Amino acid sequence: MEAIANGNGGTSANVNEKQPKRMGRNCEICGHKRAALRRPKTGQQVCKECFYLTFEEEIHKVIIDNHLFKPGERVAIGASGGKDSTVLAHVLTELNRRHNYGLDLFLLSIDEGITGYRDDSLETVKRNEIQYGVPLKVVSYKSLYGWTMDEIVKEIGLKNNCTFCGVFRRQALDRGATMVEADKIATGHNADDIAETVLLNILRGDIARLGRCTQITTGEDGSIPRCKPFKYTYEKEIVMYAYFKKLDYFSTECIYSPNAYRGFARDFIKDLEQIRPRAILDIIRSGENFSVSSSTKLPEQGICERCGYISSQKWCKACVLLDGLNRGLPKLGISRTRGRRGLKLEIEPPVTTEAEMQQKELPKGKPCTSLDF
Ligand code: SF4
Ligand code: ZN
Repeated sequence: MEAIANGNGGTSANVNEKQPKRMGRNCEICGHKRAALRRPKTGQQVCKECFYLTFEEEIHKVIIDNHLFKPGERVAIGASGGKDSTVLAHVLTELNRRHNYGLDLFLLSIDEGITGYRDDSLETVKRNEIQYGVPLKVVSYKSLYGWTMDEIVKEIGLKNNCTFCGVFRRQALDRGATMVEADKIATGHNADDIAETVLLNILRGDIARLGRCTQITTGEDGSIPRCKPFKYTYEKEIVMYAYFKKLDYFSTECIYSPNAYRGFARDFIKDLEQIRPRAILDIIRSGENFSVSSSTKLPEQGICERCGYISSQKWCKACVLLDGLNRGLPKLGISRTRGRRGLKLEIEPPVTTEAEMQQKELPKGKPCTSLDF
């Protein structure tokens, strides 16, 4: 840049270099636009345009560095209508075009049958289908299992509903992806979700899951692989991106959402983040560095005798839960002990709902993100 003398004996180039530091108002990336926000992940003050580009290109780097997709793949984006999956659909569509990934993208939604929650959020996903020009497939619990979550809650009450819902959803997402011949499922798990899961697995002493939960791609050994392009993306930045871009997403919480234990883990991580933003990435790194000890036996993968879905037991978890429901003994499926059939059941509560917002003026974050699990 050509230096032009100014009245202070310096040059305009010098002035420009010093300006962002002294004033703290100019974008720390481009240097000339006014900073509109402070990035929660790095503390940098940036303008909106630089924030969008950095946010998107960091995700692109994660995709490329981890070989998440191959050209020509058919990728199902797990879409709940919430901010994570809406931003994922938006960013993947954009990166697919910008960097010529050659992906055949579509949205895959699960209708749990929760009146006043999922029916409304599905309306958002239907609008996203038009906004992004990405086709949508909806798979319902009712069609797959014969039960809606409303009916299940009537039967079992509000204590273990998320166990049923999480188990059914995980399988429903696989089944939906198989129906539309997807090669891969992309989910909107963000860095906060993963840090929270690391912490919960430590608290539960679940070594097998601790080893798995930080993997960016899972399920390559059998079912349709799932990947998490937002593994290093902060929830607060996702909310900012959605908010500033005015994306159309749904932010009401599930009417059946309890899951206090996970809520505590979430709050704890938010508190740590407040003091030290890097804490989220550090927890993920810690999870990655835990190696599963050789004495820890991981369950062998097999096939459910009843429905053919991937399972390490004789029956998959969905079939066990469904059997209990259909026999009018729903609690049978949620015992932590060995049942009459000799099946050891593990409870896999999904991610819940509370997303604390850093900035009061931004809308409150997330509905149930367990769609993505
Ligand atoms: Fe299902 Fe999530 Fe609602 Fe629980 S909070 S019932 S997992 S949608
Ligand atoms: Zn089964």
